[in-house]
Amino acid sequence: MTDTARRLVEVALPVPLFQTFVYSLDGEYEHEARVGSRVLVPFRKRQEIGIIVATDAELPKRGVVKAVSAIPDAEPALDDSLLSLSRWISEYYVVPLGVVLRSVLPALLTGAAQPHPNVKTRRVVRIRDDIPTLLQREKAFARAPQQRALFELVESLGGATSVEHLLEQLKFSPSVLKSLEKRALITIERERVERDPFATRVGRSEARHVPTVRQVAAIERMKSARPGEVFLLHGVTGSGKTLVYIELLKEIVERRGKTAIVLVPEIALTPQTVDRFRAVFGDEVAVLHSALSDGERYDAWLALKRGEKRIAVGARSAVFAPLSNIGAIIVDEEHESSYKQGETPRYHARETAIVRATQEGAIVVLGSATPSLETWTNAVADKFTLLSLPERVGGASLPRVDVVDLRRLVPDATDSAGHEDYQRVVSTPLDAALTARLMKGEQSILLLNRRGYSAFVQCETCGNVATCPNCSITLTYHRSPERLVCHYCMHQEEPQRVCKRCGGVTLRRRGLGTQQVERLVCERFPSARVARMDVDTTSGKWAHAEILDRVGAGEVDILLGTQMIAKGLDFPNVTLVGVIDADVGINLPDFRASERCFQLLSQVAGRAGRGARGGEVLIQTRVPGHHAVTCAVTHDYATFVTEELAGRVHPPYPPNNRLANIVFSGTVEPSVANLAIAGTEWLRRLVRSRESAGLTIVGPAPSAVERIKTRWRWHVLMKSEHPHELTRVGRYFLERFPVPARDGLRVTFDRDPVTLL
Ligand code: ADP
Ligand code: ZN
Repeated sequence: MTDTARRLVEVALPVPLFQTFVYSLDGEYEHEARVGSRVLVPFRKRQEIGIIVATDAELPKRGVVKAVSAIPDAEPALDDSLLSLSRWISEYYVVPLGVVLRSVLPALLTGAAQPHPNVKTRRVVRIRDDIPTLLQREKAFARAPQQRALFELVESLGGATSVEHLLEQLKFSPSVLKSLEKRALITIERERVERDPFATRVGRSEARHVPTVRQVAAIERMKSARPGEVFLLHGVTGSGKTLVYIELLKEIVERRGKTAIVLVPEIALTPQTVDRFRAVFGDEVAVLHSALSDGERYDAWLALKRGEKRIAVGARSAVFAPLSNIGAIIVDEEHESSYKQGETPRYHARETAIVRATQEGAIVVLGSATPSLETWTNAVADKFTLLSLPERVGGASLPRVDVVDLRRLVPDATDSAGHEDYQRVVSTPLDAALTARLMKGEQSILLLNRRGYSAFVQCETCGNVATCPNCSITLTYHRSPERLVCHYCMHQEEPQRVCKRCGGVTLRRRGLGTQQVERLVCERFPSARVARMDVDTTSGKWAHAEILDRVGAGEVDILLGTQMIAKGLDFPNVTLVGVIDADVGINLPDFRASERCFQLLSQVAGRAGRGARGGEVLIQTRVPGHHAVTCAVTHDYATFVTEELAGRVHPPYPPNNRLANIVFSGTVEPSVANLAIAGTEWLRRLVRSRESAGLTIVGPAPSAVERIKTRWRWHVLMKSEHPHELTRVGRYFLERFPVPARDGLRVTFDRDPVTLL
């Protein structure tokens, strides 16, 4: 290499600029510079980790070219296919490539402070093998809630995790750990690193089912798929979709020697789900979920990259599993909104999975009982291949669903004391159904799509509602400890005894929370075993798995919970599902509110009657004529889709067009408003001058949630029938529209938003 022919590389850095950077290779490096390799480079007086995206860069016309500081790895961190997937995300969602790459790689590889991840040994906490019974547990931890929390967290992580993770990331104190060790409830040992927390968990042996005729038909069709083919597996709840996935994976992984990714919603990523795959594929499975420590995540990533494990099971980001030779990507419950990332890069894992599979010649299986309208429309248009499982396995029928009209039964949901009494929460028909289940020794599920003791505090005189001082969100009333909490920014305050606006003293609590319903139900049925599942009882990640184990073991008569109980549970002895208030959410100012409500009702109804005894569902509502309710009653997905699609024509909403939501935010309200107005003007001018085909701009307006975490928010919508136009205009706007550097002003671009709130 001569001085005149310096070798130059193009590097993507995780900075908010739509450009890459050129560095020279002047120096001695431990490893070769290859496309996809990580490099440590000087950037604005600091060192950053970047990724080489080209090794034959041109000398830039201006500026000084600095030298790469280090090349830490022998192998590129990213192969060509993940790099080109990242380029697609960067392009489509309009995000700088380096910012995308930071999400694609495990956190341990993106920190400049530690270019060489330490993978030697670490101290590992293991809980003892003979897991104590509930009763022993109550005794052991009666006066040691901290110890209990730690113990159960480790349990939920599969029985083992590193000391470092517990102390540093999860902030437990060393003394809690010591006490548990002293009591021989855990062991702490220095171990060579095999940080897979599931390695020690024995897969429950799932009874080997013989696939039904319907399942066989679906599996056979998938086996003869053409590369890149996308399937919609539309199977009613209890139709055995998981067995179809497993049989497909046997073919793809065991017989064809390829690899596979299984995406599940985070909430469904319970040991139960994982066990079903573990039981069949054992050590081939790497589990990626958000409670893993950075080290554990890195180990799983490495095992996949080295081909030691060939199946990645995980939530959203598992779509980036570093597998080569992918044969299939499965997206279970494809309609779940959690597949969309809520922060930059705002990618949708389902769309990303399809792009990745197309690039790599793999097939995609989108599974759902209530497919998103986008997916359904694609299936109807023959872009996706529709495979149906219209019946439950084993001849079980879908449960009978009845509606209880609350308007007739409950004239006013609150009494003057501010306490809903039992009859006003649980209508007579639902009460009778619950009583019957208890007498027969069968189980019931009650769904309440809210948390906390009571949704809000209201002045009886003037109607004023207590809201968060930082966000325009109603504060939620919690009883123990007595607090008003904002669930956007976690602001907390004492409940007011006097109305802040008019000084009136009579404050009334309206709405219902899981704690309150739990108390009422316990009072009504003192001998029933009631379990509550919501964010409060499941704060240890996966702690809800334990509650579910108890339901499965028949130790619970009534399971009461928020929407997290609606997903994927499979308990044959549950013969009754009651929905306390179906209307929550229907009236949110969001075009997907009805779709979400229908999905929730269908999913929770699907929990009933999975066994031979059948089951029934009772939905309490004040809007019994709404199509989200009527179609859930008749299990009529097709009619729901027809009515819902018709409602998205004037004005058009996806899937009849494409959207991008541009959010302007900042700490000073008038500045935000001005920026939104200026930005919208700027866009309108751009669209006019370019004669952008069919691009409509709607707004600006304050967001439905006007303020989050002290930031005011305005938004403007771009609508188009041509996805390409949104990319082009969005990119142009983000690159050139000047955002003043004051009042914390910021612009975010949300392509294909799942919510507009
Ligand atoms: P879905 O995900 O479609 O709601 P699941 O995959 O949870 O349904 O299956 C429902 C239940 O049926 C599970 O208990 C599963 O083990 C069982 N099952 C699935 N396929 C068969 C089969 N072919 N024969 C018997 N039982 C089956
Ligand atoms: Zn708040």
